[in-house]
Amino acid sequence: MGIGKLIVLTGPSGVGKGTLLRSLLQRHPELYLSVSATTRQPRSGEVEGEDYFFLTRPQFERMIAQGEFLEWAEFAGNLYGTPKFAVEDQIRQGQWVILEIELEGARQVREFFTDAFRIFILPPSLPELEFRIRNRGTDTEEAIARRLQRAQEEIDAANEFDLQVVNDDFDDTLEQIEEALFAPALC
Ligand code: 5GP
Repeated sequence: MGIGKLIVLTGPSGVGKGTLLRSLLQRHPELYLSVSATTRQPRSGEVEGEDYFFLTRPQFERMIAQGEFLEWAEFAGNLYGTPKFAVEDQIRQGQWVILEIELEGARQVREFFTDAFRIFILPPSLPELEFRIRNRGTDTEEAIARRLQRAQEEIDAANEFDLQVVNDDFDDTLEQIEEALFAPALC
């Protein structure tokens, strides 16, 4: 795989990033997924240390103060951040590391890792996005409204990214991401 590389996957909540990511990791076990920290409450089935490190706000704020995040942002009322240590360590070892993060975090990453490859996943439409978020059945009405409002802001910034893919047909989306990641120019 050569030298380490940072890959950033961004896109509005509910667009299907998590499912895409799981498939990518299954098909390319050499990719390393960075586990984020969050102050959000765990959803049912989420596992500490696998889906997230679930922290209290004071714990999270202490990590910010100690400079332990590569990036962090507030999203829909909760804090989310990428712990620095594991990512830097993996990249030093030549691994390809994937971050699944929202827009503000992706912008911060660009400042420090100018050669990070940044992918934005778009929904086929806003109504379809709303349908997917509701169908997930995990968010309150208030959370849904906040996520949809934020979705529009994120979509407006999609052209800041190296690759934009509309997640309409899952297999097709996955193929486009794989082509971009494993194209000879990037390896
Ligand atoms: P969710 O609550 O649905 O798991 O995540 C909400 C949003 O936070 C998603 O857009 C997700 O990509 C983003 N997110 C997850 N981890 C991080 C992180 O470490 N940093 C940032 N900036 N965003 C994150």
